[in-house]
Amino acid sequence: MKPWLGAEEAEAASAAVLSGWVAQGPKVAAFEDAFARRVAAVHAVAMSSCTSALHVALHLLDVRPGDEVVVPSLSFIATANAVRHCGATPVFADVEPETGNLAEAGVAAVLTDRTRAVILVHQAGVPADVDPVRALCGPRGVTVVEDAACAAGSIYRGVPVGADAEMAAWSFHPRKLITTGEGGMLTTNHVEWAGRAKRLREHGMSVSAAERHRGGGAVVESYLETAFNYRMTDIQAAVGLVQLSKLDAIVRRRRELAARYHELLAAVPALRAVRDPEHGTTNYQSFWVMLSDDVAVERDDVLARLAARGVSARRGIMAAHLEPAYAGHPHVDLPVTEAFTRRSLILPLYHDMTDAEQHTVVDELTAALHLPLNTR
Ligand SMILES: *Cc1c(COP(=O)(O)O)cnc(C)c1O
Repeated sequence: MKPWLGAEEAEAASAAVLSGWVAQGPKVAAFEDAFARRVAAVHAVAMSSCTSALHVALHLLDVRPGDEVVVPSLSFIATANAVRHCGATPVFADVEPETGNLAEAGVAAVLTDRTRAVILVHQAGVPADVDPVRALCGPRGVTVVEDAACAAGSIYRGVPVGADAEMAAWSFHPRKLITTGEGGMLTTNHVEWAGRAKRLREHGMSVSAAERHRGGGAVVESYLETAFNYRMTDIQAAVGLVQLSKLDAIVRRRRELAARYHELLAAVPALRAVRDPEHGTTNYQSFWVMLSDDVAVERDDVLARLAARGVSARRGIMAAHLEPAYAGHPHVDLPVTEAFTRRSLILPLYHDMTDAEQHTVVDELTAALHLPLNTR
């Protein structure tokens, strides 16, 4: 991934600096309004990262020690960590082989009396099938929080991912489609959650610093609960507003490039590439390919060979349960997750990518796959 940034973002950041208001202020408010409109959510609350948005989401649900939250192990580790930040227990569920996403069956297999929430990840931008999971969880009083870190611009059943999420968490890290350097957003359709989330990100203040400034006079705030500093800056939000205006173009370009990869890879046997699921379209935040079992080479050898040839591919989506941070953490068998993380890799894909670069990637990948065993 290379972020698609230009002079417009630099000018917006510069204007924010010169305005004299650099912390959370009018630009953050404008970015929240624009983002909510774009993903068809009712409320948006800017955060310092997606990880902080996930933490606040679980905090709003009063998730605490002794509680369980179902998460995919096959995700960036922040998904599981958000549960531990609340002192609760992440419960890993296995994913679907086609999409890499949690689905109803995987979640149902691990629900218990102690389950308080499920974090459903739209992994790599591929929309998860939310409705059946919500139908399963709703009657049990289990809230579905959507980890939409990768999914800005993806579509689920004809509407933007997150449009009617109870809560969804978004990331603006440069590895995602639009970036503010670091940054995140919590969207929700519940007005009380949005209001409390705004306090939780700002030390639990009854009146935000920006409101006190606007109010003139002597407004004295109080601190209603022990909270966090998860604020976004106005410099970041100014960049975010420009990036958001480019989101449609970015998604269109990524889907064009992905279609081209699909054409080129059709000639390469023993590979399966990420595709749109039947219930929506992906923004192709990551273009992953899975090596089938009859390819004799190891994924890491393919990566090493690509790197040696100047192609910057990456391992596929990680599995939290295989990391030292989760050593000894109990979990059900996760065969699909383990195959996915072991046999997948992510190919280069960025807005400015050229036709020739895509050809190079596919040629080098083809060569790497046919690497005879005895030359490794
Ligand atoms: C990137 C990512 C995160 C973390 O986002 P940050 O903004 O870096 O905190 C969380 N979940 C998923 C699925 C991600 O891809």
